[in-house]
Amino acid sequence: MKDISIIIPIYNEENNIHLLHESLTSVVSKISSSYELIFINDGSRDNSLSIVKAIAANDQHVYYINFSRNFGHQIAVSAGLDYCTGNTVAIIDADLQDPPELIQEMHQKMKEGFEVVYAKRKSRDGENFMKKFTAKIFYRTLARITSVEIPVDTGDFRIMDRKIVDVLKHMPEQQKYLRGQIPWIGFRQTYVEYDRKERHAGETGYTYRKMMRFAIDGITSFSTAPLKFATASGFVVSFISFIWILYALYSRFIIKDYVQGWTSIMIAVLFIGGVQLICIGIIGEYISRMSANIRNRPLYVVQDTNIQE
Ligand code: UDP
Ligand code: MG
Repeated sequence: MKDISIIIPIYNEENNIHLLHESLTSVVSKISSSYELIFINDGSRDNSLSIVKAIAANDQHVYYINFSRNFGHQIAVSAGLDYCTGNTVAIIDADLQDPPELIQEMHQKMKEGFEVVYAKRKSRDGENFMKKFTAKIFYRTLARITSVEIPVDTGDFRIMDRKIVDVLKHMPEQQKYLRGQIPWIGFRQTYVEYDRKERHAGETGYTYRKMMRFAIDGITSFSTAPLKFATASGFVVSFISFIWILYALYSRFIIKDYVQGWTSIMIAVLFIGGVQLICIGIIGEYISRMSANIRNRPLYVVQDTNIQE
């Protein structure tokens, strides 16, 4: 058992690890001498692994977990959460975009009685317009369609109590979206703000493809809005179809201005279109319930009780 664990996912960060290790050490050792830095090498193709191993050989606070291939950022962090022993656990990126010094401020804030302190990006530097724009739209859309309050402009840089980590370990879902799962858990959560700097070295490991997949994971794990879309559009289409069918009948029988066969074809097409969308929506409702169950999340999280177990 340590006082504090720091989880650092690593994917091609060879030019950041030394500096990160130094700054983390100086920040964290001020908080407690009982700490561990856990580096998870997520299938890096550069020298990251040997650098981490060399550091670990000289610093008893440093541990590493080496993945057999690239499993992705969220899985790397999850492995760190599984292995860490700290009473307090922090997650930080390896590229120094998340300033290590902020850990001290976040830790201070926890003492005010919070279980989670996350770091909220006031501004972001050195990222292109596309990334900032898509991130902004995505976080806001997600916040609107989910029932959980997922804070906007927040990554995984945060510090949390052991209680939270223990619940996270009981959320065995395959599609990890930690920045949604942690708010889902509840307890007292707050944030500190910071200006996000440019990467110290190297380039982003998040390709547009990975970002897209991550965004879809976030939406499907915390919202059934896309599934409900079929039902909603089914009703809209059926309503329009109904009016159109009336019009088709009207032109066939009242004004008698029609092309042979048009009425029956229109009615059939419109009717089937509406019925199909509604049926897909019904199937969607069942699938949304199944996906909620398959996630295997606990039904609730108890903060305290006077019932003895
Ligand atoms: N990372 C990882 N696996 C990946 C991609 C990224 O472990 O497949 C790590 C990376 O080394 C860094 C953190 O996740 O510590 C954040 O990644 P990155 O800085 O590339 O993302 P960005 O800041 O551009 O969103
Ligand atoms: Mg980064």
